[in-house]
Amino acid sequence: MAYDFDLYVIGAGSGGVRAARFAAGFGAKVAVAESRYLGGTCVNVGCVPKKLLVYGAHFAEDFEQASGFGWSLGEANFDWPTLIANKDREINRLNGIYRNLLVNSGVTLHEGHARLVDPHQVEINGERFTARHILIATGGWPQIPDIPGREHAIGSNEAFFLKELPKRVLVVGGGYIAVEFAGIFHGLGAQTSLLYRGDLFLRGFDDSVRTHLKEELTKRGLDLQFNADIERIEKQADGSLKATLKDGRVLEADCVFYATGRRPMLDNLGLENTSVKLDERGFVQVNDQYETTEASILAIGDVIGRVQLTPVALAEGMAVARRLFKPEHYRPVDYAMIPTAVFSLPNIGTVGLTEEEAKKNGHRVQIFESRFRPMKLTLTECQEKTLMKLVVDADTDKVLGCHMVGPDAGEIVQGLAIALKAGATKQHFDETIGVHPTAAEEFVTMRTPVSD
Ligand code: FAD
Ligand code: NDP
Repeated sequence: MAYDFDLYVIGAGSGGVRAARFAAGFGAKVAVAESRYLGGTCVNVGCVPKKLLVYGAHFAEDFEQASGFGWSLGEANFDWPTLIANKDREINRLNGIYRNLLVNSGVTLHEGHARLVDPHQVEINGERFTARHILIATGGWPQIPDIPGREHAIGSNEAFFLKELPKRVLVVGGGYIAVEFAGIFHGLGAQTSLLYRGDLFLRGFDDSVRTHLKEELTKRGLDLQFNADIERIEKQADGSLKATLKDGRVLEADCVFYATGRRPMLDNLGLENTSVKLDERGFVQVNDQYETTEASILAIGDVIGRVQLTPVALAEGMAVARRLFKPEHYRPVDYAMIPTAVFSLPNIGTVGLTEEEAKKNGHRVQIFESRFRPMKLTLTECQEKTLMKLVVDADTDKVLGCHMVGPDAGEIVQGLAIALKAGATKQHFDETIGVHPTAAEEFVTMRTPVSD
C-alpha cells in the first residue's frame, strides 16, 4: 500500500523534532504535527525559559556579593514584566528557528491537534493522512493532585506567564521543578516556602546532596517545610489564598505553585482506535526499540516515562530515525550514566550512582567528599559551601558516581560524565592534573576517603 508519509510524528518537541529531521535527512517522507508550540516543553515552558529565569534570580546574590569586590551599587530593583517579555521574545526567536529547521530539512509541518484514526492514519484539522510508521512524541503535562481548591493553584505552564511576581508563594513538591522554581521565586524577591510531603526533598539523589542543598537553601532564607502537604486551598475576599495543611496549619499566599510530577500527554489522541497499551503508570508501553504494542506505532520521550530529560528524548528520537531509515547507523540508547543538573541556587550536578544505590547494588564503596567555601565568596560575607562527592568501587577502583552542589555544577558534571562513561577509575582522577584555581579541580585532588 502507498502511504502519504513514511513517518508521521505527533508532537514537535525535543524528541519529535529530532526524529523528524533526521528521518527526513535519511531520505524518508516525513510529516510532524504540533498543536501548541514548536520545540515543545523544553523550549516553551521547560528547560530554556526556566534557565533564563534562574539566571535572572542569580543576579540578586551577584549584587549582594559585588560590594566585597569594591563595587557600590544603588538599590537594585527587579521588574518581572521586563524579564518575562524578554524571555518571550527569545522563545519566539527559538520557535522560528525550529520552524526553519523542520522546513529546511524537508519535513511537512501540520499545525493542529493530531488524532489517531487507525494504526496507519492520523486526522488533523479535518484532513486524514496515512503513514507507514507513526511516532507518538506528545510529551507530558503537569499533574496537580485533585484537592479541594485545586483550581486556585498553578503549575509550571502558568508560572512562566504570570503577569506579576507574587509577593508570597507556596511551592508544593520536592522534585526538580519545585526546587528550581523555589530558587527562582526566592531569588527574585518573593517570600517563598517549599512544601514537601516527605522527610527530605529530591528523593533519588545522593543523600549528601539532598542534605547539603537543604542546608544551603535554609542559609539563604528559603522557608523549607518538610512533612507538609496541602489538604485544601481557599480563595479569600482580598484575592489571596489560604492553604490548609493536613496537619491543620494554615498558610497564606498569593500563589500556590504545584510541581508534583508530570503525566503523559495522551488527551484526545485516539489511542482507543489502535491496540497501543499503557504501562501500569499510564505511560505508553514500548519495547527496547520504542515499538508500542501496535506494530506501526512507536513512542519516545516523556510520553514513555523512562527518563524525562530533553537529551534523552533527543537520543531516543535519533535512535528511532536511524533504526527505521538508516539501520546501518543504528545504536541503541544507553541509559547508564545519564548526567543531570538541577538548576537550583546553588546548582546540583550529578552522574552515576548515588552512595545509597551503589551499596544497594552490592558494591563495596569508598566515599570521597569535600566541602569548601568557593574562592569567589572569600571576599564576601556569603557563607555558602560547595559539596563534591565521589563514589568509588573499593574493589575495582572504578568511579561509580560524581555529585556536586555548587556554582556551575551542571557545567562541571558534563565533562565528568564522559570520564565515567569511559570507565574512569579513581586513579585516573588522581593522575589528572587540575585546572587551577577552579572549583572543578577538587574532583581530581580528593585523596582521603571519608569512609570505607
Ligand atoms: P515535549 O517536548 O513535551 O513535546 C511534545 C509536543 O507534542 C508538545 O509540543 C505538544 O504540544 C505536542 N503535542 C501533544 N499532543 C499533541 C497532539 N495530539 N497533536 C499535536 N501535537 C501534540 N529537561 C532537561 O533535560 N533539562 C532541563 O533543564 C529541564 N527543565 C525542565 C523544566 C520544566 C519546567 C519542565 C516542565 C521540564 C523540563 N525538562 C528539562 C524536561 C524536558 O522539557 C522534557 O523531558 C522534554 O521536553 C521531553 O521532550 P518530548 O519530545 O518527549 O516532549
Ligand atoms: P518529579 O518527579 O521530579 O518530582 C515530583 C515531586 O512531587 C516529588 O517530590 C514527589 O514526591 C512530589 N509529589 C508527587 N505527587 C505528589 C502529591 N500528590 N502530593 C504531594 N507531592 C507529590 O517531577 P517534577 O514535576 O519536578 O518534574 C518532572 C520531570 O521533569 C522531572 O522528573 C525531570 O525528569 C524533568 N525536569 C528536569 C529538569 C532538569 O533537568 N533540570 C528540570 C525540571 C524538570 P515523592 O518524592 O515523595 O514522590
